[in-house]
Amino acid sequence: MVTTRFAPSPNGSLHLGHAFAALVAHDLAREAGGRFLLRIEDIDGARSRPELAEEFRADLAWLGLEWAEVAPQSARLADYAAAADRLRAEGLLYPCTCTRAQIAASARETGPEGPVYPGTCRGRGAPAPGVPVAWRLDVAAALARTGPLEWVDALAGPQRADPARLGDVVLVRKNEPASYHLAATLDDAADGVSLVTRGRDLFAATHVHRLLQALLGLPVPRWHHHPLLIDDATGTKLAKRRNSPSLADRRHAGEDGAALAAALRGHRFPAGISLGQRLHRGT
Ligand code: GLU
Ligand code: ZN
Repeated sequence: MVTTRFAPSPNGSLHLGHAFAALVAHDLAREAGGRFLLRIEDIDGARSRPELAEEFRADLAWLGLEWAEVAPQSARLADYAAAADRLRAEGLLYPCTCTRAQIAASARETGPEGPVYPGTCRGRGAPAPGVPVAWRLDVAAALARTGPLEWVDALAGPQRADPARLGDVVLVRKNEPASYHLAATLDDAADGVSLVTRGRDLFAATHVHRLLQALLGLPVPRWHHHPLLIDDATGTKLAKRRNSPSLADRRHAGEDGAALAAALRGHRFPAGISLGQRLHRGT
């Protein structure tokens, strides 16, 4: 049984790139007679706007999609805490007090997601009481525990997991129960997601997710990292709050959502928008 999901964060309205992502997930499940899930990823504290979840549902319905909705991330905090406790007890997490600015100033490399944390706090022990800490995964120690890992992308083929390229990622954020990496990996396992579809911008994150699956004894799904819609004027991906009307704007303006979905499925994009590179090796 193929199970896919669309997992938007309610921190801004959905745009055409999200519609494309939802259609990919929906159609891959439907073609296989499987299930398509909606999961609201609402643990982005300050930026989360709960009222957007209702907008997202209306957007998906307008596109003509059918889905089953699973619990939002805000309902799963105890699961995230339990997993973090387990990794901490195994000595695989360490507390980090660094600020964003300190990390930017001390990083020696830039990875796929910005400055790579150089491990400043690894081995430093407990910080003074009251100092806010994030908990980072000691990736080298974790990999030594698991041994080499592989994963498969439907478009890019088999990959050797290389989580070190993202550095010692944060799994528990300062004042937040979990990071995206920990929450999404646990949720996909809990929801029985067998095919994780998402944009190619998250390709590198999958190396980390594969490591977390090995550490936590979670099932290993397949992945399908689809190309992104690109704004031809800037050459960058479409983003919330930038360069294209939201799906809700289009819906309220009376546009036909089923026709838009058909156009996106046929790769007929509005003027100024194109599909990013199809081929993708080793990024
Ligand atoms: N909540 C994430 C986003 O909006 C989803 C990432 C994923 O699909 O794994 O980008
Ligand atoms: Zn640090």
